[in-house]
Amino acid sequence: MTSLRARKRLIDQLRQMAVANNEVLDVILSVPRHAFLEEALASHAYDNAALPIGHGQTISQPSTVASMTTRLLEKFPNGLDKVLEIGTGCGYQTAIIAAFTKQVISIERIKQLHYAARDRLYDLKIRNIKCLYADGFLGCEQYAPYDGILAAAVSDDVPEILIDQLIVGGRLLMPVANESNQTQHLIMIDKTSTGIKQQRLDVVAFVPRQSGIT
Ligand code: SAH
Repeated sequence: MTSLRARKRLIDQLRQMAVANNEVLDVILSVPRHAFLEEALASHAYDNAALPIGHGQTISQPSTVASMTTRLLEKFPNGLDKVLEIGTGCGYQTAIIAAFTKQVISIERIKQLHYAARDRLYDLKIRNIKCLYADGFLGCEQYAPYDGILAAAVSDDVPEILIDQLIVGGRLLMPVANESNQTQHLIMIDKTSTGIKQQRLDVVAFVPRQSGIT
């Protein structure tokens, strides 16, 4: 079930349901999602599903990865210089966005996930990623500003500090929960010279943002 056939079936599904351009779909086809999962789950690697990666966290759903990546590329059709990713998890979204970006800074707050993702991405020979162990919602001033920022954990607001670390012309995508915590939407923010433009996109399901490191 990690065969090319299983991968192609996933791509066909994504083509029908997700906001996804062909370049992004090609990268999703070529990145071995099963390499990001425990062996016991490998047979589900090409299902369009979030799956457990330990520590109560999940690998992002392919359709979500496809649409977040595509939304960034809409803004930067020739690729991005620098992207900040919050919530490395197993590194799957990191690997996909790295195909379109000169340098990805990816931050994870759970030590074991951080080290495992760093080693996995290295083994996959993806070398334009810097994995950091920190609280990502504080951003990362050291490498700022970023063309794009992606977050993979849901917050109840968009931290101002992240918008500060975007270039003018940059785009941020992150899930935000409503007040009752019942629904999450993907929020897209474009930073312009006169302020920000915010759009509410699809309903999504992400794990919650947590503070500090562990
Ligand atoms: N795209 C990842 C998603 C992992 S789930 C993947 O495909 O594997 C979201 C991740 O965000 C979890 O690993 C969680 O530990 C991390 N996270 C939550 N709050 C965070 C924070 N404040 N800083 C950094 N990472 C955080």
